[in-house]
Parts: sequence; C-alpha cells; structure tokens
Amino acid sequence: MRVAIIGSGPAGFYAAETLLKRTDTVVHVDMFDRLPTPYGLVRGGVAPDHQNIKAVIRVFEKTSTRPTFRFLGNVCLGRDVTVEELRQHYHQIVYAIGNESDRRLGIPCEGIPRCTPATVFIGWYNGHPDYRHAKIDLSVSRVAVVGNGNVAIDTARILLRTPAELEKTDVANHALEALRHSQVREVFILGRRGPEQASFTPPELKELGEMEDVDPIVSPDELAGCVIPETEGNSQQEKNLKILQSFSVRPPGTKAKKLHLRFLVSPTEVIADANGNVAGLKLEKNHLEIQPDGTATVRGTGKTEVLDVGMVLPTVGFAAKQITGVPYDEKLQVIANEDGRVVESASRTVIANEYVVGWARTGPRGLIGAHKGASAHVVEHMIADGAGLEARELPEREAIDALLKRRGVQIVSFNDWKQLDNAEVARGARRGAPRDKIVDVEAMLTLLAQR
Ligand SMILES: Cc1cc2nc3c(=O)[nH]c(=O)nc-3n(C[C@H](O)[C@H](O)[C@H](O)COP(=O)(O)OP(=O)(O)OC[C@H]3O[C@@H](n4cnc5c(N)ncnc54)[C@H](O)[C@@H]3O)c2cc1C
Repeated sequence: MRVAIIGSGPAGFYAAETLLKRTDTVVHVDMFDRLPTPYGLVRGGVAPDHQNIKAVIRVFEKTSTRPTFRFLGNVCLGRDVTVEELRQHYHQIVYAIGNESDRRLGIPCEGIPRCTPATVFIGWYNGHPDYRHAKIDLSVSRVAVVGNGNVAIDTARILLRTPAELEKTDVANHALEALRHSQVREVFILGRRGPEQASFTPPELKELGEMEDVDPIVSPDELAGCVIPETEGNSQQEKNLKILQSFSVRPPGTKAKKLHLRFLVSPTEVIADANGNVAGLKLEKNHLEIQPDGTATVRGTGKTEVLDVGMVLPTVGFAAKQITGVPYDEKLQVIANEDGRVVESASRTVIANEYVVGWARTGPRGLIGAHKGASAHVVEHMIADGAGLEARELPEREAIDALLKRRGVQIVSFNDWKQLDNAEVARGARRGAPRDKIVDVEAMLTLLAQR
C-alpha cells in the first residue's frame, strides 16, 4: 500500500505512525511538505519561549526512521504537483495541511498597516519563511490583541518579554533584533465574552503573572458577577477565574510593562490616523445572555469607547487554505469531509481513497497531543475502505521524484532536513539558544547544495 500524506505537522506525523505500525500490510508513506522543514506549527506556531512543548519532535523523528517512510520537503501540493498526479502515484491520500489562513474580524479598516493578522505576527517571530519580510512596526507603545485563547496569550507574551528572556529561545533572529528595540509598553488582551467563557488554559494564564518585567492588570469590575471558587477549583473555568482574581487584587506593580485583560468588548472599527496607520480601536461593550441550555450569547449594549492603541493583532481563529482539486467547505473553512473522509463540497459524496486529518479536518481546535487519537481514528477509516487497494498497480515509487525533478523542484529529504537542523542548532549555540532558524528557503537550498 502506498500513501501520500500532505503536510508534516502533528496530524500528518501521527497518521504516518499509525499507518506504518500496521502489521497486516506493508505501508509506504511519502510525506510531503511545502517547506523544506518538517513539523508544521510545532516549528512555526508554538511559542519560542515554550521549548518543552517542542520535545514532541522526538516522537516524530522516530517515525521518520521507519524504513518505509520518506519525507519530500519543499514540495507544495497545488504548485509543484497536482491532486490528479497524486492519485496516479498513490493508493490513498491524506491531507494534513493545517489552517494556514486567518479568520477575519470583519470590521472597517481591518487591513490597514499595523493591524496584523495572527498568522503573520506568529510566523514572523517564529521564522516562517512566508513572513520573514513582514512589516512589524514596534515603534508604538500600546497594542490591542483581540481574542481570548492561548494564541492571544502567546502573542502578548512575546511582545512583552525582555530581550534577555527571548535571547535564550529560538525566536527568529530578525524578530529578536526588532523586539530589542520595541517601544511596546502596554498590551490589552480583549475578549468578546466574559472571564468565565475565556478559552485560555490555566498554566498559560498563570504564566502572565510570572514574567520578568510585566504586571498583569485585571480590574475587579471585570470579574463582577463571576462566581469565584473558594479554592483553586478543578475545571479550566474555575482555575482561570481564580488566577484572574489573584491578578485583580495585586497591589499596583512597578514593572515597566503592563498587560491588561479585558472582557465583554467587541472591536467594531479600526481607527486610522492621517497616514492610514492604526491610531485606535473602537470597542462596543457587551453583555451576556445565558440561554436555558446554559450557553452564553453575547449582545452589544451600544456603549462604545475608543481604545488608544497603535497596533491591533487579531487572534480570532484560523482557516484552511483552498487547494485546487481539493473540495472545500466554505462554511467551516476546512477541507470538506465527513469524519475525515473527503467529500464533494455540494453533494457530500465521498471521494474514494482521500482523507483529511488535523486542523484541516476540524478547524483550529485541539492541542498537539489530541491529534494522536484523532489521526488514528481517520486511519481506521482508511483501513476499512482500503481492503484490496494495494492490488492496483502504480508507477515505481521514485517516479514521483523524477516528475518533480523534471519540474525543477529540489526535493528535501529527511536527511537533508537533519543537515539544516544541525546547522541551525550550531548557529543557535552562538547566542546560547536552542537554535537560530534559517528563515529563507533559498538559503536552505543553497546550504544543502553546498554539502
Ligand atoms: C500560535 C500557536 C501556538 C500553539 N501552541 C501550542 C502549544 O503550546 N501546545 C500545543 O499542544 N498546541 C499548540 N498549538 C496547536 C498545534 O500547533 C496544532 O494543534 C497542530 O499543529 C495542528 O496540526 P496539523 O498537523 O493539523 O497542522 P500544522 O501543524 O499546521 O501542519 C500543517 C503542515 O502542512 C504543510 N502544508 C500546508 N499546505 C501545504 C501544501 N499545499 N502542500 C504541502 N504542504 C502543505 C505546512 O507547511 C505544515 O507543515 C498552537 C497553535 C498555534 C497557531
């Protein structure tokens, strides 16, 4: 059985591992990624100051040593190879392309300079080649981060860390240099709903109170009406409330930077200055209506204010990118699927032998570990549907390499990646960091060509 997996993030790797562990048949997995580097958001999303999370890479490295696994990096589906060609060379295809677009706030002036989507800002500080030239202007003193999840927290933390805290991480060098000279002193994390509905995880929220040069600020008014538990609490909600309460009773801090957590406000307009840059963010105050089933609905009160900020970073969710030949679900902004089986967008008819895993299947929900079981679940469908498929004769396995080479594509193997990996780690050692990322695809390919 020969399977193509498109995307080398956690969902792709966990699917590969489950397929390669099969004992009833030998599965050959070719894993493609549009970048020369593997691991998706583990490399390009997880915050540089959370290195422990990246230890999961060791699990993926083990998968890469399985004898029937191959990595074909620097190959983009839709640019270098078509879906039709994959169908000719593989018995089954798994799309694991993640969510590489942003959801929009949908408010006036959202696209103006210094209103920067999360993907761009996160990609910039994490050294994603697509965003190495992003214009991130840190000459402003106040920034609004819109959203109430961990991505908002990551974004605020990276903006407010001291250079000394960042130096020992694998933050991209260009970002480290820019952040050294940053004028940002105050960040506002803005939630549309209340503290009880925030989707922060407690350790990440708590960490905001432990940073070197930042005071977290929560006005007691923000917590009015919340039922705060006596003890630390068990649920995420209870733990978050307890942490927010502890921030709200802190005496005024003396640290140089402030982080405000505000709730029940919705941005309604980005305000531009005479040069067209962000000069403020108009907010409407919300109130919550609790429905009979316990869910909370947000309603605007009509009361507005303008928050004086020079930069806006919306972190309100992500969406899968559309690829020619792969059906797309416009409503959910994912690859059209029924429980991981790809379906035609309109008729919902199953497209045989094509599957989707990870965020491309579900949207941006779930931490890295959750993909292990979720990808294995989709592989169960692949096994159930695939009986006898391997009898279909395919071109030789290397025929796909030859096709790509004829098109001038420089395929990056896993061994090639390990060379880049070693080079990055050696560069990083010079600044006492786990790695110093190479952020330019051309530079990566040149380095490999020279060896
Ligand atoms: C900012 C941020 C921080 C996070 N921090 C944490 C954390 O601390 N802990 C945690 O557990 N989870 C964290 N997550 C969540 C975690 O990263 C995701 O759950 C996980 O990475 C999703 O896996 P995936 O494989 O679906 O997609 P991805 O990891 O996005 O991988 C998709 C891969 O597909 C490739 N690709 C895309 N299009 C193509 C194409 N056309 N052709 C070939 N290849 C393609 C991409 O290059 C990429 O390598 C974070 C997410 C974000 C956004």
